[in-house]
Parts: sequence; C-alpha cells; structure tokens
Amino acid sequence: MILFKNCDVYSPEYLGKKDVLIAGSKIISVGEQISPIAGTDCDVIDATGYQMIPGLIDAHVHIAGAGGEGGPATRTPELQLSMLLNAGVTSVVGCLGTDGMTRNVESVLMKAKGLKQEGVSAWIYTGAYQVPTPTITGDVGRDIALIEEVIGVGEIAISDHRSSVPTVNELIRIAEHARVGGMLGGKAGIVNIHMGDLEKPFKPLYEAVEKSMLKLTQFLPTHCNRNDYIFEDAKEYGKKGYIDITTSSYPYFPEYEIKPSKTIKLLLEAGVPLEHITFTSDACGSLPGFDDAGNLVRLEMGTPHANFRELADAVNEEKIPLEKALKVLTSNIADILKLNGKGRICVGNDADLVLIKNWEIKFVTANGTLMLRDGKLLKKGSYEA
Ligand SMILES: [Zn+2]
Repeated sequence: MILFKNCDVYSPEYLGKKDVLIAGSKIISVGEQISPIAGTDCDVIDATGYQMIPGLIDAHVHIAGAGGEGGPATRTPELQLSMLLNAGVTSVVGCLGTDGMTRNVESVLMKAKGLKQEGVSAWIYTGAYQVPTPTITGDVGRDIALIEEVIGVGEIAISDHRSSVPTVNELIRIAEHARVGGMLGGKAGIVNIHMGDLEKPFKPLYEAVEKSMLKLTQFLPTHCNRNDYIFEDAKEYGKKGYIDITTSSYPYFPEYEIKPSKTIKLLLEAGVPLEHITFTSDACGSLPGFDDAGNLVRLEMGTPHANFRELADAVNEEKIPLEKALKVLTSNIADILKLNGKGRICVGNDADLVLIKNWEIKFVTANGTLMLRDGKLLKKGSYEA
C-alpha cells in the first residue's frame, strides 16, 4: 500500500487537497485525513506542495522502432521503459508506421507484452501505413477481436507521398472490419489515420462516412497540426470527429507545424469540443529533414517527454487550466480508445499516478508500483544501463 498525503489532485477535474491510498494495482480511497490501515505495510509519502495527475496515456508510439526512410541506417531503435516513466507516461499504444514491409505487427505485439511485464500498460494497433495492411491473423477485425492487446488498426496513411492511396471502398472495409472486430472483442476498434501533406487531407474520411454507415468517430486522424492548411480543416472536421495532435515533431519543424500547446485554445475557439482533442507523441518515429534536392540532411527521433512539455506550455503560456489541458493526455484518450480503468484518478481505477512539483515529474506509480521516487527511477527496462 502507498498513501500520498495532502496533494492537489486533478482527476483531471480538480478535486482539491486530498489524500490518495493505493493498494495492489488499484486506487482504493481518495479523501481527507486518510490513515494507513492498521496492521498493514503502508508507505506514507508526504505530498504537500505536489500536484497529482493521472498517469499520462501516449496513444501513438512506435514502440518497436520505425523509420528507415533514409535507408537501413536510419531505422529507429525500440522504445525503452525509462523514456515512458521519465515522461509520466504509464499507458502506451504501439503502432508500426511507414515500414510495414520489413517490420511486422508481431514485433509490435511482443514489445507491448514486454512493456507490460516491465510494469506499464500497453496496447497496439494492428496494421501499418500500407493497404492491404499487414495483420497477425490475416484480418484486421480478427486481430482486434482475438488478441488482447490489439484495440484498433493503424496508422493507415492517407494524403501522403508514402501512402498506398487506399480507395474509399478500401478505407470503408478496413473501418468496418475494425468496428465489428471491436464489437466482438469489446474494444474501440478505432482506425488511426496518418494524415499527410496533401491538400484537403480529410476528404477520404468524409467520403468513407458518406458512402457507408460509419461515423467519423470511427477514425482518429493524427498529425493534425503538421501544417497550417490541415489544421484549418481540422477545425471543421473536429466538430464531428476526433483530432489528434502530434507533440514530438514540432521543435524540428517549427516553420510548418502548429505548436501543440497552442492548438487546444484554437480548436476550442473554432467550436471543437474539448473531448474530441487528443495529444500523442509519435515517439520513436524518425523525423527526417530533406533539402530541396531531396537529400537527407538531418535525422532526429521523437520522445514521449514532448507530451509533458506541451502540457506545461498549454498551462503556463496559453493559460489553459490544468484540469482542462490534462484531458487531452488522459480521460479523452481513455474514453475514445475504451481503456477501462485508465485516464482518471478515482476509486477502483488503476493506480497510475504522477506527482509533479514546479513542472518536474517527481513520483510515478504504474499499476500501483512506485516506478519513480523523488525524481529517481526505481525501475528500468531489461537492458537499460
Ligand atoms: Zn504517422
């Protein structure tokens, strides 16, 4: 058992100064003046002056590595546990990405299983950029229905030079199989869509919905801040559908991208409901820079910590209240992806907690285990130094 005393709790709604008691993997009490249960072994942590937030959910991470668009030497390495914990991320959704040709969904699944063994919560999207998209069992819906960790499909690439340019009928078929697989498996069956740089990038999604019984909310388009015209279209699309903002690439492409921390206010002003907005890092994706002749001139890799940086900037620079800004990295994602027990601090939910002070991450629990204490990692991945 761990008892955190006297911290400002954001559920993400602000609950006031509370004590929070966790036992096993769950939150068992949130209230005032909670005492350790007599006769039990309880670690009491004075959390005066700390803010407690739910463990962040990062729902688009290339956990098994990605990239390679600049040749074999540009393939990115696998995610390491410490990259999540130092970023306050306790739940992650892995995906394959551009390279569905030499990498496979099986390795993403095994990496997710590995992260779960290391203590955090992990799920995956089956599929990759390409259509027909790679799967484990031969069908998107079957993967989602049968494999515990698979909650949807993606990232399927549209409106991009690396897309296989799926027809509207192909998109509908993928989304219908994901939806039915989700119904059978009790999952969200979401189709995560990689949005590229083409003009009118949302057109294939509008057409898929017009020609079928699908709703726009079956799709979760990501990279919606990658340039000004996609972001303008996102202000309209987001009134009915979900909008995912990528946090890790902005510092490398500030001349094109909309800074994630600024997007919340701009989308809200345009009439997009807050519950439709999510942030993800796209960590371990490669961020190649090309010159005008198409030569690779630089190579960077995103990290999950970008989420926390943009959350801090949204609060401190854009003056979005913490309880609102937090939703894009916690409860909104848990609701959209149906991650039960995640994204909120309340009795019965999983004990995924992050304590911050002066915008530094000081304590992290994942499924009830203390992973970071006083800013020091207590747990690292199997091969981390
Ligand atoms: Zn992408």
